[in-house]
This record gives sequence, C-alpha cells and structure tokens, in this order.
Amino acid sequence: MENENQKQPGFIMCVCTGKCPGFAKMDIWDFINQVRVELPVEYGFIHPQLCEEDGDRFLADFLKAHRKVVIGGCAPNMQKKLFRDAFADAGLDITKDLIPLDIREMTTQEAVDKVEKALEQLEELEELEEAE
Ligand code: SF4
Repeated sequence: MENENQKQPGFIMCVCTGKCPGFAKMDIWDFINQVRVELPVEYGFIHPQLCEEDGDRFLADFLKAHRKVVIGGCAPNMQKKLFRDAFADAGLDITKDLIPLDIREMTTQEAVDKVEKALEQLEELEELEEAE
C-alpha cells in the first residue's frame, strides 16, 4: 500500500491570485476537496500564484520530493514555459513529470472530470512503461 501511494502524483491547483475570472464558474474549495479526497493523488492543495517569485521558491522545495505533479491552472504551454527551470533545477523531466491541465472556464465538475481523466491516462501510461 505504501509503495502504491508513493507512486501517486501530487496535485496543485494554481488559482492565479484568486482574482482571475477564469475560475469564476467553479467553487475552488469543492474542486480541491473532491480532487484530494476522491481521486488517486498523494495530496492536493491550492497555491495562490505559482509563477511569482515565492512560487519559484516553493517549487524549488516541493520538487525535491521527485514526485510527478499534476498542476491545474493555466494553459499547458504556458505552464511548461513558466516551470521549465524549476523542473530542470530539480533534475526532473518536465515532459514526463509535469502533467499540466488547463482548468479555466470550467465548472467544478468539469474540472474534476478533467483531472480524473488525466490521472487515468497517467496510470495507463505507467502500466505500459512497467510492462516494457
Ligand atoms: S502559473 Fe498560470 S495559473 Fe498560476 S498564477 Fe501563473 S499564469 Fe496564473
């Protein structure tokens, strides 16, 4: 059980200061509680602004765990640009260790469904890699 848990990714919702209209359609607390309690993640939480300087400092600490991380926030391309250095500095491969999801303009349930689907795909990919 412990080993299985260790494989589970962490989930961060980046809420873009909390003032971004992109999250107006969802209840961010219902969203994060559903993700962290109902989905196969090691833990889930909300960060106010990952692409600010304190976000860089936070990621530098957080990524030391060398755990895959699903980030729900802005567009995947944007996330890859913003977090490229943090992942590289931690010795992680951003193409494999970051699962970036755009959850803006979604209802709570739409966003939860998107995270659930991404986690299922990640699990399938990992099973395929293990079978090789
Ligand atoms: S990382 Fe993306 S979602 Fe988070 S604060 Fe920056 S622009 Fe907004």
